[in-house]
Amino acid sequence: MRVVLPAGLVVAFVAIVVAAVFEDSRATAPSPSASPVPGDDAAAGPRIGDHWHAAYEIFICGEMQPAIDSFEAVAGSPGTHSDGIMHQHPFSPAGEGQGSNLQNFFKVGGGKLDGDEIQIPGHSETYKNGDECPDGTEGVVQVFVNGKRLTDYEGYIPQDGDRIEIVFGPEREVIRRALTDRPARLY
Ligand SMILES: [Zn+2]
Repeated sequence: MRVVLPAGLVVAFVAIVVAAVFEDSRATAPSPSASPVPGDDAAAGPRIGDHWHAAYEIFICGEMQPAIDSFEAVAGSPGTHSDGIMHQHPFSPAGEGQGSNLQNFFKVGGGKLDGDEIQIPGHSETYKNGDECPDGTEGVVQVFVNGKRLTDYEGYIPQDGDRIEIVFGPEREVIRRALTDRPARLY
């Protein structure tokens, strides 16, 4: 004896199974905008959909340098718009977390920031620890974030609202007052 199922019943059954599997995958798949997991590298950095801003100033031997010309990583972050602000608005995972760290900001812009060397994006000169400034003083690469000096600065991920001062020159302790007073969240 043959049992012939009505075609409509088969279609309905398949649709129910597909819907159930789809619902299940939606419930378990991690959302890209999920809350940062403590200890996760990306937790300290911007995620897709974020738009963070950090004001920066660069000083070479006491002279403030012009804002870096516009550039933007393929991943959307890091970048800048000639405005003295580091912009972080990743739209793919490469720009999230450590993808937007300070060293990568310089690298993506065509410059360099190592533990002992700096090249400003768009400039050809490189300044290394121990190089002399025109006045004969010995220069050192220094990074200050919100008034505090950072030692391991290459992997630092600029946080939304940060004020970052990058210096090549004689060792010093104090951040410039003008930068600490400047609003970082301009755009
Ligand atoms: Zn922006």
